[in-house]
Amino acid sequence: MERTFGIIKPDAVAAGDTGKILDIIEQNGFKVAGMRKIHMSKKTAQQFYSVHASRPFYDALTTFMSSAPCVVLVLEKDGAILGWRELMGATNPDMATEGTLRKLFGKSIDHNAVHGSDAKETAAEEIAFFFAGMNLV
Ligand code: ATP
Ligand code: MG
Repeated sequence: MERTFGIIKPDAVAAGDTGKILDIIEQNGFKVAGMRKIHMSKKTAQQFYSVHASRPFYDALTTFMSSAPCVVLVLEKDGAILGWRELMGATNPDMATEGTLRKLFGKSIDHNAVHGSDAKETAAEEIAFFFAGMNLV
């Protein structure tokens, strides 16, 4: 069984969409193996998104991700990494397929409701970043 890492981002949590998103996640066959509600510091957001440090949107992205609580998730399913990316939809909600989480709950490219790891290595790193030493069930 493969595991991936996801975030219900501050925009979706603030909008009261956490439960709806979790429902869709479970309806799509994912098991929630880990879940925590956190409020990231700016420094944590900068570390988490360090791969984007040179991008023009880095400061706005890390300010947004540390602006309010989010929910970090470990999701388990056969093919979880690709499956979660498909369920999320395109980065820009305007370009996302109907029925995807970003189409349903995202407002714009910088307020796009959810995050998901993009490969095996990043999934392992991102799970470890937020769940190191914690019991995943
Ligand atoms: P995520 O990593 O959040 O799952 P992603 O892998 O689809 O999204 P990335 O290219 O990794 O997209 O970008 C990380 C995040 O940075 C995006 O989710 C988005 O919120 C923000 N972002 C990406 N590109 C832009 C942009 N051109 N302008 C503003 N924000 C952007
Ligand atoms: Mg990404």
